[in-house]
Amino acid sequence: MIEGRLGELAGRVLQGEGIKREEALWLMGLPLEIKINESILEVSSEVRQRFFSNAVELCSIVNAKSGMCTEDCAFCSQSRVSRARIERYRLLPADRLVEAARAAKGARAHRFSIVTSGRRIAPRELERVCEAVKQIRREVGIEVDVSIGALDRKGAELLREAGIGYCHHNLETSPGFFGRICTTHPFEERLETIRTLQDVGLEVCSGGIFGLGEGDEDRVELALLLRDLGVRSIPLNFLRPIAGTPLEHAMPLDPWVALRIIAMFRLVNPRAVIRVCGGREFVLGDLQGLIFRAGANGIMVGNYLTTSGSPPEEDHRMIALSGMRLT
Ligand code: SF4
Repeated sequence: MIEGRLGELAGRVLQGEGIKREEALWLMGLPLEIKINESILEVSSEVRQRFFSNAVELCSIVNAKSGMCTEDCAFCSQSRVSRARIERYRLLPADRLVEAARAAKGARAHRFSIVTSGRRIAPRELERVCEAVKQIRREVGIEVDVSIGALDRKGAELLREAGIGYCHHNLETSPGFFGRICTTHPFEERLETIRTLQDVGLEVCSGGIFGLGEGDEDRVELALLLRDLGVRSIPLNFLRPIAGTPLEHAMPLDPWVALRIIAMFRLVNPRAVIRVCGGREFVLGDLQGLIFRAGANGIMVGNYLTTSGSPPEEDHRMIALSGMRLT
């Protein structure tokens, strides 16, 4: 019965058509039993294989401006309400960003992203980021993305002229749940930034974070919204509770729930790059290699914003042992 319905969904998704809301909710609601998990992984890996073969794209980030944020996102160690012990510094100079881009290339990352804390950056900081983007493209030869908060049309045009690849701006969670994790800016502002970026012709990378206390409806809502927006690069993060943040005592997600979320995103967004980013090691542990069977075709390597990641060689090994290869 379950296998039959999964097979029926697979048939449609393999044609490139994502599953519907009620199907995604059904998938999320299936029991976490070995046989069912295995059947879902079979379908999600077939879909990933159809659209992306066994190729994995690696991306890497630098925390170019850390802490001191005016916002109150409950999961974030850089927020104004966080007491987490993190480094706090202003925008790094260009040579430090170039150096970080070289390290990313050395770790075999295909893309490198400059990430800054804060709701948005100041015009002079934006100019400096644009200059750094140009310098990295010229001197290092790696795709450069940015994640620098809310942007208006003028800012988006400057980034386009600087030659950025993706502009990253997470929606984080569903519109209905967003107010539970952030009260200092509205969900609509995040949507507005995405629309502005798309309007000027930039490619958007946008996803979310899970394990905040959201329900399956919120997870499905986010997956559908990203599809409706035509987002083709979707990072999925899993909360790693950080001491000193409002969510420091949150219960970590079950690894099989995390894998189910990845699979659902793959089936809703069959042609999007699904990247597993923050919290990967913490939540998935020994099951990390299964993310590709769940449908992921990208991972973030190196360190995260304020926490350490695995050594890149370990990730390369994990990719090879999972029968995958770097693009
Ligand atoms: S997620 Fe971004 S906007 Fe929210 S608190 Fe952290 S740095 Fe600030």
